[in-house]
Amino acid sequence: MTDFSIFGSNLCEGSGIEELMHDLGNALASGGDDIKMLGGGQPGSIPEMNAIWRRRMVEVMEIPGEFEAMVGNYDPPKGNPKFIQALARMFSEKLGWEVTEKNIAITAGGQTAFFFLFNALAGRTKSGSRKKILLPLVPEYIGYANQSVGDDLFKAVRPKIEKIGGHQFKYRVDFDALEIDESIAAICVSRPTNPSGNVLTDHEMEKLSELAAANGIPLMIDNAYGAPFPNIFFADAKPLWNEHTILTMSLSKIGLPGTRTGIIVAPERIAEAVASMNAIVGLANSNIGQCLMEPLVRSGEVLELSNEVVKPFYVEKSRQAQGWVREFFDDSLPYRVHVSEGALFLWIWFEGMPISSKELYERLKARGVLIVSGSYFFFGLNESDWKHRDECIRVTFTMDEAVVREGIRIIGEEVKKVYLAK
Ligand code: PLP
Repeated sequence: MTDFSIFGSNLCEGSGIEELMHDLGNALASGGDDIKMLGGGQPGSIPEMNAIWRRRMVEVMEIPGEFEAMVGNYDPPKGNPKFIQALARMFSEKLGWEVTEKNIAITAGGQTAFFFLFNALAGRTKSGSRKKILLPLVPEYIGYANQSVGDDLFKAVRPKIEKIGGHQFKYRVDFDALEIDESIAAICVSRPTNPSGNVLTDHEMEKLSELAAANGIPLMIDNAYGAPFPNIFFADAKPLWNEHTILTMSLSKIGLPGTRTGIIVAPERIAEAVASMNAIVGLANSNIGQCLMEPLVRSGEVLELSNEVVKPFYVEKSRQAQGWVREFFDDSLPYRVHVSEGALFLWIWFEGMPISSKELYERLKARGVLIVSGSYFFFGLNESDWKHRDECIRVTFTMDEAVVREGIRIIGEEVKKVYLAK
């Protein structure tokens, strides 16, 4: 067969995110009884939220014409006008953002939004120069890593590490190390951050926003876990949007990943650009998530659900998981857990670990525990000699209690063996 193009070799030959989604999808499809699935970004199954989706589905079936429109119509490439209108009203009335319908576009999930945006903003320009996306703090979301259709897209900066007590730490943006010149197309952060559960402080966000504005480039904020929904956001910090910001949101982590619905809140030109890409790549988006969610956005119920159901569910999941780490990890081991300020994961650093995190992943997989090796989250960084890159793992805490507890117990046991064999 003929060789793949550059696009083909970048996208058709596997990636960390494919491996992760393969592990996740297969574990879920098999019923997952003998596998402790602490690997993917699968949101938890929250009975109160499942009941809401069922209620909405019944309403859709009962309203004449609603079901037929949901499955029978193509939406405009920008997304469903009623849904977009409800979002614009919520953002301006509840958050005070100066946003209209013209600032919003829908995509087939946040993942697709980033594929479009990264490739539209960075890469080779018409004048022949090459632009990159600046990641001011890595580790950063594994799903960005292989999205380029051409050259390498990322320039990443190593963070400062603040050690907290005996077994915790927090990443901080190293502003002295940030260099922005005309080769930078945009700055991008996930907040809360996947994988670390870090929430960049309001002060860090203000400084990044100022840097973006001063350089005439956008600040991209991946708000997949953030406020106002799903609000898996435990830190004392505020969401941010202004005219230099491209904010992405998603219906996945509130409980609708199967509907593949992403939301972009951006300058009008960017929202229009996303609509153009939607039309070329997929004609239109799936209607289902937008249709299920629209009345909840319009009434504001989604905000109450996020604050009163979703957030407390994950605060408790995180608290339990941290408790099991303290219970099952030998206190004498040099482990540190990143402060859990949001998202679905514990990010655990084993300083000086005698094996790499990839080897630890393999050893845990052989024992039926799936985690993600931290090494995948440091793309775009030149410093290959930074040991920290191979000393971290990501552990998802959304599954049933018994699964997470047993998985963490086995991780503690395996890591102890690793250090003892040194
Ligand atoms: N951004 C972050 C930080 C994520 O963790 C994820 C999924 O895990 C996504 C974006 C993409 O999610 P989706 O495409 O389901 O909206």
